[in-house]
Amino acid sequence: MGVSPMGVHEQFAQDLALYSLGALEGKEKCVLELHLDNCASCQSELRQLQQEVALLALLILGPFPRRQVRTRLLLVSEGLTSL
Ligand SMILES: [Zn+2]
Repeated sequence: MGVSPMGVHEQFAQDLALYSLGALEGKEKCVLELHLDNCASCQSELRQLQQEVALLALLILGPFPRRQVRTRLLLVSEGLTSL
């Protein structure tokens, strides 16, 4: 359903990224939220962005940087990094 012209979602792509960071405000936020109400594809895009933001926050702020440690261990074991 829907006859959205191509390119509409691209137009919103950057706004979605800002929105997922909570950085979108004012009229642009209203416009985006209106569009989100009617656009399943942008809704799932937003969900993905929010997951990525959450992962990023975990990596940066998380108390257990296991992934980082593991990556480093892998690099060391492959000889790409020396201790
Ligand atoms: Zn859309």
